[in-house]
Amino acid sequence: MDSLAALHAEMRACRRCLDAGFHIAPGAVFSSGSARRVMLIGQAPGVTEAQVKRPFNAGSGRRLFQWLGEAGWDEDTFRAGQYMTAVTKCYPGKSANGKGDRVPSKTEQSLCRPFLEQEITLVNPRLIILVGGLAIKLVYPASARLEDVIGTAVYFPPESLTNPLNFDLATAVSLTDTQIPSFLETAADGRFIVPLPHPSGASLWPNKPENRQRIARAIAILRHLSVVSIQQIGQK
Ligand code: SF4
Repeated sequence: MDSLAALHAEMRACRRCLDAGFHIAPGAVFSSGSARRVMLIGQAPGVTEAQVKRPFNAGSGRRLFQWLGEAGWDEDTFRAGQYMTAVTKCYPGKSANGKGDRVPSKTEQSLCRPFLEQEITLVNPRLIILVGGLAIKLVYPASARLEDVIGTAVYFPPESLTNPLNFDLATAVSLTDTQIPSFLETAADGRFIVPLPHPSGASLWPNKPENRQRIARAIAILRHLSVVSIQQIGQK
């Protein structure tokens, strides 16, 4: 059994959050494609994802894959090739007010963090797509607003691939969609981070006209990376 397979078995058997008193449905949800140049990190699986063990399986997946489709990845190809996971791996149940799913607590995030760090280390992706506020805050400051980061990217230099858990933004370059094409002509051997909002229908943020423009800029960045950079990276 290789290291990633062993990690997956460990995640599926994990009961840390249950043992700590959280009412999660155990049984980690993630998907590991064959190419794994891209890692997509969401918040936590929803109930249907937990049932069929497929990330972004339901309504939020339709919107997410619409965005990724506009960026150049069809759903089947992305699922078959790339790595999809979440900040916490098990279904956290419904929120107390019944609207949407419960946001995993900081304790659950901490309990699951070693798994995420091992995934990043073992997959060592060239592009990380952070989906939703919880995932975005893995890299960006807690004070960062969606309005500040959606439609932008950060690039970590190649050294980041030998230190995969370095997310010190002071060592990264911030980029906009208009800067990406010329930037890719000179530097593409490191790691790109691109944030997206949560695609859940429970979130109204993506529907506001000004935010649609931000999402369009994020999709434009991903389109450049999917067409130019990631193909080159895939050949290395
Ligand atoms: S969310 Fe993570 S830490 Fe918590 S039980 Fe599931 S796999 Fe374990």
